[in-house]
Amino acid sequence: MFLSLSYVFQVDCFVCSHCFQFIGSVELQIGRKLYLQGLGLSDKNGCDFEAFSPTSKEDVPKNHNHSELCSSSASRDNSAPSDDTLESLMNGTLSLPYSEKFSLPPVISCLGGCEEEHYCSKSCAEADWELFHSILCTGKSSRSLQRNALVKFVEHANKTNDIFILAAKAISFTILRYKKLKITHLENQIQNTGLHEVARTSFSLLMEAWRPISMGFKKRWWDCIALPDDIDSSREASFRMQIKELAFESLQLLKEAIFEKEYAPLFSLEIYGHVIGMFELNNLDLVVASPVEDYFIYIDELPPGTAFFPLQSCMNHSCCPNAKAFKREEDRDGQATIIALRTISKGEEITISYIDEDLPYDERQALLADYGFRCQCPKCSGGL
Ligand SMILES: [Zn+2]
Ligand SMILES: [Zn+2]
Ligand SMILES: [Zn+2]
Repeated sequence: MFLSLSYVFQVDCFVCSHCFQFIGSVELQIGRKLYLQGLGLSDKNGCDFEAFSPTSKEDVPKNHNHSELCSSSASRDNSAPSDDTLESLMNGTLSLPYSEKFSLPPVISCLGGCEEEHYCSKSCAEADWELFHSILCTGKSSRSLQRNALVKFVEHANKTNDIFILAAKAISFTILRYKKLKITHLENQIQNTGLHEVARTSFSLLMEAWRPISMGFKKRWWDCIALPDDIDSSREASFRMQIKELAFESLQLLKEAIFEKEYAPLFSLEIYGHVIGMFELNNLDLVVASPVEDYFIYIDELPPGTAFFPLQSCMNHSCCPNAKAFKREEDRDGQATIIALRTISKGEEITISYIDEDLPYDERQALLADYGFRCQCPKCSGGL
């Protein structure tokens, strides 16, 4: 369970912070993703999907490989949907066809009121609070006494390496576990009046709390991190020293936020280095089934548009369209949902693409010949 934390790196997907299933709605997932892409914040290694672009079946990787899907959508900025479209996707006023078949659990906020963690259910929010988050929450009802210091720690991690946040989670997990073990131990001592219970030191309880984490230990971070390609092997020692200093910096910030004398052994640089190294080495490539990818695959596999759609058929083709039509089974009587791909000015013609507009020029013209015209759109006029 604990190692699955590595999945939090994929910030692009909006998932439950505890069980990692997708939350909200297909529309929210798409809107949020496109919004982050627009801000340039999108994580290239995260789970990506090709929003609003036709993907032929051959294009869909058999293994749903995230990075492949992601790299193929790199050149799509020119057809980015408008801010209004994104807004309505995210606030739920715009619903995409068939999305009800891919319904997701609602978004439950963090119990402490921070904006960083979201859950699929109250039980996940409570479990996460009890296991890790009550110590690391930066919200109003946080149990942390040093909220500002905590914010500084998180900012530093976001700027340098997200892995520090995982390390902090491992430490707060241990602290919370230790507190529970201690209460149970004291209760047992009182009940049994020491007959069977041997009095245990705080240190041995702390070690017991620590055991699940320590089992993952292999090497210290600065010893196991791979040397980047652009660093010459003669500079390896100084590189590893810099990494160690970075970990030290992060640990100092964490200590200012959550340190208490009682569990001081958890805050040594040696331990911190091992915890980070554990995440570095166990960088499991967990793939969570993405209902958003499933949704796009489903839409792409709908039978080709042979039905008659008055609105859609009134629209002209362009290889750089400003809108996209979605056809729905139940809309055979004439409706189709048209979504703007970018801001359309007043008086500007609304265009959609009849074909896969990413095909090369010659292939596009050949396909469009079936529709009985030669395309003169700006892309074709430029011979692109
Ligand atoms: Zn959950
Ligand atoms: Zn929180
Ligand atoms: Zn064209």
